[in-house]
Amino acid sequence: MSTCLITGITGQDGAYLAELLLSKGSRVVGLVRHSATLDFVGERLQSLDVLKHVELMSGDLIDLTSLIRVISACEPDEIYNLGAQSFVATSWNEPILTGQVTGIGTLTMLEAIRIVNRKTRFYQASSSEMFGLIQQPMQNEKTAFYPRSPYAVAKLYAHWMTVNYRESHGMHASSGILFNHESPLRGIEFVTRKITDGVARIKLGLAKDLALGNVDARRDWGHARDYVRAMWLMLQQEKPDDYVVATGQTTSVRDFCKIAFDVVGLNWKDYVTTRSDLIRPAEVDVLCGDATKARTVLGWAPTISFGDMVAEMVEADLRRHTARNHA
Ligand code: GDP
Repeated sequence: MSTCLITGITGQDGAYLAELLLSKGSRVVGLVRHSATLDFVGERLQSLDVLKHVELMSGDLIDLTSLIRVISACEPDEIYNLGAQSFVATSWNEPILTGQVTGIGTLTMLEAIRIVNRKTRFYQASSSEMFGLIQQPMQNEKTAFYPRSPYAVAKLYAHWMTVNYRESHGMHASSGILFNHESPLRGIEFVTRKITDGVARIKLGLAKDLALGNVDARRDWGHARDYVRAMWLMLQQEKPDDYVVATGQTTSVRDFCKIAFDVVGLNWKDYVTTRSDLIRPAEVDVLCGDATKARTVLGWAPTISFGDMVAEMVEADLRRHTARNHA
């Protein structure tokens, strides 16, 4: 039985990945920060019914000794580094914290692995935000990066450190350049969940409108459940490498709104407003990934359609608000 350690297990991807690894028969250990309250820690894992099957150990990505302690204690075969300050807009308000956790935190984990057991396989959660001001219409592993936020700069540092530890120390370290991936477990601060939550509130009479920033932005949105499978596949390969994971389809925030409001039979134009304070200091206008390498080498392909994902998210938010109102 293999042991897998997940940082960021409390997040969307952490929950789906824990579910997947448990289904493969792995022992799953999650790193949690002491400051996180148990309620918050458990919410997403509980919703997938996996909380009782995972072991949680306290530690922090910016504290080398805590990582050494945890890795020495649980002796993982695989480490998935999903922990980060992951919200782009926040990274302008907290650029140093973002650099410390998202950037140096990854280096700290790589150092801990090098010190304790450099045979441990490592997955780094890299991001399509690293492409930022895109240099090619479809981005693949060879596309030049141009980060546009403190978050993206920190992720780029972490990405290159992963490549560097692979090349310098011969570590099995892979970087998954994942395009945006969503689900009912997505954080409410991200635009897709903000929209589906807004749609549910409006439908149930709990809100009158939904204020957004740049609705012209376009993203390549896939489903998190599909994307965590790509992470796992990367660590099952004989050789570590970097892979773009994407659907190859791009949709605007405006069209996301249209499709989400359509699910409940409402016209988005009657409810969506735009607010200038929600526009970012520097925007990533469009992202669209070319996942040919993941398809050919890993045999990975997305299975959940965009329309099904949006409907699943809206329906989950309707259920959530209905249950809360009747509680
Ligand atoms: P990101 O790609 O990691 O930044 O994911 P987000 O879901 O936070 O944002 C996706 C896009 O939606 C960005 O281009 C945002 O500028 C745009 N957007 C427009 N309105 C909003 C909003 O109200 N909240 C968020 N989070 N993003 C918005």
